[in-house]
Amino acid sequence: MPKQFAVIGLGRFGSSVARTLTELGHEVLAIDSDEDRIQEALPYVTHAVQADATDEEALKALGIRNFDVVVVAIGADIQASILATLILKELGVPHIVVKAQNHRHGQVLYKIGADEVVFPERDMGVRVARHLVSPNILDY
Ligand code: ATP
Repeated sequence: MPKQFAVIGLGRFGSSVARTLTELGHEVLAIDSDEDRIQEALPYVTHAVQADATDEEALKALGIRNFDVVVVAIGADIQASILATLILKELGVPHIVVKAQNHRHGQVLYKIGADEVVFPERDMGVRVARHLVSPNILDY
């Protein structure tokens, strides 16, 4: 059954997540504070909205609590990533996935209630290394 996803932060990671979820047949709301990123996302997601994810009222107005999964893909601004995660948790989002910059950032995210924390560069490094020693394993 299709799920409702929201992706906050449309850098390389967030835009790739949003695009792939859409291709897989799910509803995706893309959110970014940068209007240019919104314009780029419009062709490949269901909805794209400019908003600051550290603004609780803005997230409430988007009905963010009604989404099944919210992915926080804000990169460099660790403070914004943490604050957005905290607000999403307080608003009752059922499943929150957050991209972390480093180990400490990841620890904080788990402590404030993130359900999944991903480290894209680290995780991809593991995947490539495994593929190099077992080339027949393409994905897992
Ligand atoms: P990637 O490695 O995935 O390209 P990155 O780590 O370089 O990403 P950034 O480019 O710093 O990450 O941030 C990703 C996106 O998050 C940017 O498009 C940025 O505009 C957006 N962003 C940053 N802060 C906020 C915020 N408070 N609310 C919404 N979007 C935000």
